[in-house]
Amino acid sequence: MLLTVSTTHRPATDLGYLLHKHPDRVQEFAPSFGTATVLYPEANDERCTVALMLDVDPVRLARSRGRNAPDFSLAQYVNDRPYAASSLLGVAMADVFSTARSGRCRSRQELADSAIPLEIAIPVLPCRGGAEIARRLFEPLGWSVVAEPIALDDGFPEWGDSRYLRLTLTGVVRLADALNQLHVLLPVLDESKHYWQGPDEVDKLLRSGEGWLAGHPDAELITRRYLGRRGALTRAALTRLAELGDDVEDAVEPAAEEETRQPDERRAPLKAQRHDAVHQALLDLGARSVIDLGCGPGQFLARLVRTPAFSRVAGADVSTRSLQQAARRLHLDRMSERQAERVQLFQGALTYEDERYAGFDAAVLMEVIEHVDPPRLGALERVVFGVAAPGAVVVTTPNAEYNPLYEGLSGMRHPDHRFEWSRAEFAAWSDRVADVYGYTVERRGVGDLDEEHGTPTQLAIFTRTEATDD
Ligand code: SAH
Repeated sequence: MLLTVSTTHRPATDLGYLLHKHPDRVQEFAPSFGTATVLYPEANDERCTVALMLDVDPVRLARSRGRNAPDFSLAQYVNDRPYAASSLLGVAMADVFSTARSGRCRSRQELADSAIPLEIAIPVLPCRGGAEIARRLFEPLGWSVVAEPIALDDGFPEWGDSRYLRLTLTGVVRLADALNQLHVLLPVLDESKHYWQGPDEVDKLLRSGEGWLAGHPDAELITRRYLGRRGALTRAALTRLAELGDDVEDAVEPAAEEETRQPDERRAPLKAQRHDAVHQALLDLGARSVIDLGCGPGQFLARLVRTPAFSRVAGADVSTRSLQQAARRLHLDRMSERQAERVQLFQGALTYEDERYAGFDAAVLMEVIEHVDPPRLGALERVVFGVAAPGAVVVTTPNAEYNPLYEGLSGMRHPDHRFEWSRAEFAAWSDRVADVYGYTVERRGVGDLDEEHGTPTQLAIFTRTEATDD
């Protein structure tokens, strides 16, 4: 099986740095099921291509299978494994390029953070659902997709197409994102494996999916297929994805009911309940101008824009990628002039003073503070409550005491969380901040209340008691 990744970013040979594999060398790796070889068929300033070749050893593959292996008997030995880019290629790629997938690159960090022109080619890809599903999964991620069906037998065209495709993806994408997307989507397209799953599979999926999965229109389908239709894991993953603040609907039923389930049978996901609670708080406060600090891909912002009571709406985030998604979601480029004057979107870090944060009736910090390193939290407090000093601040953050109720959750709810607080910790923090910066604070819970563990989300409404200079 073969996968190639090419770039025309110049100098193209920088690809070697990003992948931590030198273009002049041929390197071999030995996953449990065969041999993976990395080599560069072309490497010059204009264009550089890396190839990952995987030789699967069917005997070793069969021996390395776990107890719950879906395959048995002869099918383990006589199958398409050696030729088709199955989930095994995704697994091998994940191992061989693990540092590149993490987005770290000591010598070229800026390049590793940037979207670069990429072309990915997979000559033989087993694809349940055919070309259409390949397009459906890759196009929302910014790829142009060419998916050519491969005939069952060239000599007998009347036999029709096989379940294999030749897939070519072109796009301007961060390399780490591209590799993570393949790592998740190869098995999703293949849909016939899963012998390698462990209990931390949900964590792995969320880590690989960071920055693109939660916002994917087919996040639910991807999650289901990736986790092999195991209902409990899928539900845990979807609950946590919904937590991340994007368009994933809460899954209540496992895969079989996919088509028949009615929307009104679904419980409102926590994210929607959080949006409702913060929205209502802003209306109750009588705010006319609102800034969403750490707005992410702009879901809540879109809701603010739709609310006529808010005459001025702004969103800020440190992530340019999120801001691009937000701009797309708000259709900023197609807004009427009057609307565009009402809405503002800008990049900024909340730990640095910025005059654009000032002058709002209310600010929202929804699921943001827990992403800030504790030693930097004081800077954020000063910037938001001390300097920008809006009339009110609405803060939400997870309630760590609720975590034991999430099936399959071992650590924190999101790999990027720096902390998650108990109710007492959040109360102490919010009381102190209110006291220092001249606010009063009222706390509430959001989401289903558990008698012992409280609610999944904690919310605090700060109202300024002291006038500021301006
Ligand atoms: N408020 C959104 C997104 C929450 S995710 C929602 O509820 O759906 C946390 C967001 O905070 C991310 O988009 C992240 O980029 C942003 N963020 C984290 N640290 C930040 C900082 N120091 N300055 C600005 N934004 C930050």
